[in-house]
Amino acid sequence: MSDTPDTRLWAEFAAICDCGGRQSGTASERAAVALLDRLGRAATGVAPQVLETAYDGWRAIEASVTDAAGQVLPATALLRSAPTPDDGLALELIDLGRGTAADFAAQAGAIAGRAVMVRHELMFCADTVHRRLKYGWALAHGAAAFIIVGPDEGSSVAGSSGRGGEAGIPAIGIAPETARQLLAGQAGPVPIRLTLLTEEAPALAPNLIFDMPGGTAESPGDRKEWVVLSAHLDGHALGESAIDNASGCAVALAVARALAPGMAERRRGLRLAFFNVEEWALTGSADYVARLSPQDRAAIALNVNLDSVAGGSRLTALTSGFAGIEPMLQGCADRVGLPLGLHRPLQRNSDHANFAEAGIPAFRLVAGFGEPEARTRHLLTRFDTRQIVAPQALEEARALAQAICETALDAPPEDAANWRA
Ligand SMILES: [Zn+2]
Repeated sequence: MSDTPDTRLWAEFAAICDCGGRQSGTASERAAVALLDRLGRAATGVAPQVLETAYDGWRAIEASVTDAAGQVLPATALLRSAPTPDDGLALELIDLGRGTAADFAAQAGAIAGRAVMVRHELMFCADTVHRRLKYGWALAHGAAAFIIVGPDEGSSVAGSSGRGGEAGIPAIGIAPETARQLLAGQAGPVPIRLTLLTEEAPALAPNLIFDMPGGTAESPGDRKEWVVLSAHLDGHALGESAIDNASGCAVALAVARALAPGMAERRRGLRLAFFNVEEWALTGSADYVARLSPQDRAAIALNVNLDSVAGGSRLTALTSGFAGIEPMLQGCADRVGLPLGLHRPLQRNSDHANFAEAGIPAFRLVAGFGEPEARTRHLLTRFDTRQIVAPQALEEARALAQAICETALDAPPEDAANWRA
C-alpha cells in the first residue's frame, strides 16, 4: 500500500479556502467550482461530467435584529429563511434555552406569535438536537420567528433554516453577546425588531463527477463497478468553510491523485464526486442518486463521503446502518495506524445519507464526533478558517481515506457483497 504524503494537499486546501465560504449561488461558490474543475482534471486526468442540480435559489440582502433600546445588532439569515416585511417585524422574544422538545413543551402556551430563541448545538454528538428539529417545533407551536444562538463569542452562526416548500418564518443566527443584549437579563418576553430581506429565484448548481474506470482482464465483471469518493464543495458565508468542507474536498483530490496512475490494475473504477447544495438539505447528491438507474445504483459498491475530516482528536465513520462495512474500515485504520470511531445509526447530516437510503453501502468520515471540545465546534461560524486546521490532520485523513478506497477498489465480490449487509 502506498503511503506517501501528498505534497500538494495543504496548498490545494488553502486554495479552496481562498474562494471564501462558498455558499451556493454566490461568486465564491462559482470560483470553487472552477477551481475544483481544474484541480480535479489534474488529479484524475479526465474531464468531469457537470451535473446541474435545480434548487430553490435564495440569497439574503439584509439581516439584523434591533434590541428594546433601539440598537441595531448583526444577524445571519439562515439559508432559505422566509423574509420579514421590508420595514421589519416588531415581535416579543422568549428564550427557550437549549430548545429541546421538552423546552418547547414547557412554554407551549407562550410561543404563538412570538420570536423564539434557542441554542446551536455541537453537530457531531449522538444526542444533538438538530437546528431543523427546533425550527420545526417553532413552526408547529405557531412561533412568528426563529433565532438560534451560536457557540462562539464574537461570531454569529449560519446554517439552513429547515424551511421546505411551506411559507415558513424568518430565521436568523446570532452571536452569544447579541443574545445577552437582546434579553437584557430576562427570559422574556422582551420587545425586538427583526429585519430580514431576501431574494428567491429558481437556480442551478453544478456537481462535478470525475470517472476513472478500473477493471482488469481477470475481473471483467467488476470493471463496471464503482467506488464513489465524494465531498461537498459548498458552504456558508461566514468564515472559509475550511473544516466544513474544504478539508474533505482537498483530501478527496489527494486520494484521487494517488490512485489515478494505477487504475487499470483495479477491479473497480473510482468516481470522484464534488457535490453542490449539500447545505441545502443535501440537494445535489439527492439529485445525483435520483437520476441513477437501478443498474447504476447496483454498480456502486461503496460511497466514501468525506465531510469535515479535520479538527478532532480522531476520525469516525458514520456507517449508516451498514454493519458489513465496519470490519473493512477498522482493518484499514489498523493498517495505517490511526484510531477510528464507528457509529452505526444513519445520520442524515451529509451526502452519504442519500446513497444509504437508496440501498448503497455508504459512510461519512468525520472528525470530532462526540468531542465537545474539538475544533469542529466552530463549524458554521466565522472561525471555521484554515487557522484551526492542522496540516497533519489532513494528511492523516488522506492516508485513511486512501487505504479505504484502495481496499474497496480491489475487494473480491464476496467481500463487497458483505458490505450490503
Ligand atoms: Zn459538511
